[in-house]
Formats: sequence, C-alpha cells, structure tokens
Amino acid sequence: MSGKRNFCPSAAILSDRVLIDIKKIKEITNQIKKIKSFHQIRTRGDENCIFLDMHIALAPKTPLAEAYNISHQLKGKTMSGIPQVKDVVIHIEPQI
Ligand SMILES: [Zn+2]
Repeated sequence: MSGKRNFCPSAAILSDRVLIDIKKIKEITNQIKKIKSFHQIRTRGDENCIFLDMHIALAPKTPLAEAYNISHQLKGKTMSGIPQVKDVVIHIEPQI
C-alpha cells in the first residue's frame, strides 16, 4: 500500500451519484450467506478514494457477536474487492 493511496483530498464531499458499481456490492454481499439484503448505498469522495456507507439486513435473532463478524467480513471483502474504497460504514438492521 503506497502513501499516495491514502491521500484523499475530497473525502468530505458527498457525491450526488454513487461512485460504485452496485453489481459489485451485490456480488460481495452474495458471498456472505447471512446477509439477507442491502440498501441505501451512499458514497463520498471521488472515483479513486471512495467512502462507502450502506445498510444490511440480517435475521432478527442474529447474535450481536455474529452481526459484528458479518459486518467485519463485509468491510474486509469490500475494501479488498474494490481497492478504491478507503472506508466502509455498515448499518445493521433486522430483516422484516
Ligand atoms: Zn436501512
């Protein structure tokens, strides 16, 4: 990882468009069976330096420790699958 990769001059800018291919997010969430669905994908930054914010739905009785593991896995897979993503904030909700 180079230092340049972490230089994000426009990280504070909320983009009007989602900077990520939603299909890619779908592929990644599909790899984690416990994720029932996702929505509200939002991004900040620019194409090379993306801050991602998303909601995922899990079974309502998922133990907290497992929910934590799932979000941790999702963050890792997202950041390695889409290298332009510098950080991911995941909101967990119960599947209704
Ligand atoms: Zn939501």
